[in-house]
Amino acid sequence: MDAYDVAIVGAGPGGLAAAIKAKELGLSFVVLEKGESILQGIIDTYPGGKKVYPTIPKGASEIFPSPDLEPANEPVEVYVDKVRNNLAAHDIDVRLGEDAHELIQEEKRFQVVTSQGSYTCASVILAFGKSIPRDLGIYGEATHVRRRLDDPDQFIGNASLVIGGGNAAADIVAALSRAKRTAEDGSSVYWAHRRGQFRVDKEVARDLGEEILLGGNIRILHEAVPRIGEMDANGVNRLLIGIHDVEVADGIRVHRGLSFPMQHVIACIGMQGPAAVFEKLGLELITSDKITGKKPKSGKQGARFIMLDSQLQTSTEGIYAIGAAISPAYASVDDVGSLARSKHSDLIYSAASDGIKVVEAIAERRNV
Ligand SMILES: Cc1cc2nc3c(=O)[nH]c(=O)nc-3n(C[C@H](O)[C@H](O)[C@H](O)COP(=O)(O)OP(=O)(O)OC[C@H]3O[C@@H](n4cnc5c(N)ncnc54)[C@H](O)[C@@H]3O)c2cc1C
Repeated sequence: MDAYDVAIVGAGPGGLAAAIKAKELGLSFVVLEKGESILQGIIDTYPGGKKVYPTIPKGASEIFPSPDLEPANEPVEVYVDKVRNNLAAHDIDVRLGEDAHELIQEEKRFQVVTSQGSYTCASVILAFGKSIPRDLGIYGEATHVRRRLDDPDQFIGNASLVIGGGNAAADIVAALSRAKRTAEDGSSVYWAHRRGQFRVDKEVARDLGEEILLGGNIRILHEAVPRIGEMDANGVNRLLIGIHDVEVADGIRVHRGLSFPMQHVIACIGMQGPAAVFEKLGLELITSDKITGKKPKSGKQGARFIMLDSQLQTSTEGIYAIGAAISPAYASVDDVGSLARSKHSDLIYSAASDGIKVVEAIAERRNV
């Protein structure tokens, strides 16, 4: 197929508002969502039953930018269903399970590379929110590693690996162990952390201790470092985790490691802000001291902001960033190159408004 006018990364309120506008303006587009549902970011972060408020940012118009996405104080589950029906009525298709991890620039086009394929487009809208799992930092890809535990029973019958040194990882280790023990499954739960010590609260440690005493098969790996993600000869994506590394002689080192099928690995290593992702995509960021002129406190690096023009276009022409990914602030560059810190509220309203604004700019550029 020819290049899309626009590829939209993320099916949150920002990405969906952009898609609805693109459809209305007759642009060709593809929406790429890494989760299993539209609004996955909301599903993952809102507590069950939470009401979704139609909050309007200070000073903004009372008219909600995209009626299809306007919340009505309903529980989140009802909101998600409502938006799903509205999208279907517009005949908008979202490609699920597409984790976008690379952007390749080719003359006047881009390739958005995802876990499932690659999409050629003239413009890209980055609407990936800010709940972004921290990178494992391995050589190769980790896209098949899970980031949360949906159903412990899926791990029964196979040794599993949990990576991370905090409470969330410990909870998952205990839940997996409990599920395996109840099912009388002897396979182990390996728990790995790159440091020598785990950092968990007393209550969490007590639950884990209890699980071990009850016969849980938990194996602890200290100073275990994820190293390589690769596909084996049988087509299985595997993660190699280094567990022992000694120098024997003349600069020769002996490495020991364990290799797990990625589908049995859960990495619970926290979230990172979108700055790291923008940087990985080669987009320009600027530290707060460069905007304010104030030096950061000694030893501290100032916060980093994505640089955007008045149309929310990044330093690379054709790539735009919107929504929660640019909240609570970004560095706005005006036509003469002056920089200012622009506050941006983290609301459904703002994300939807950004999506519409950016698609209008893309349509205008295309028609010039
Ligand atoms: C607990 C909580 C309660 C809130 N309550 C309200 C409220 O009541 N009213 C309100 O107006 N706002 C509320 N907000 C804020 C609101 O949810 C956000 O402002 C809004 O969801 C931002 O939309 P977005 O599209 O920018 O990002 P998100 O909603 O985060 O959507 C981003 C999407 O991109 C996907 N994605 C991420 N990375 C990739 C990738 N690499 N490839 C493909 N897809 C990717 C994610 O899975 C996600 O679906 C709340 C926020 C939180 C955390």
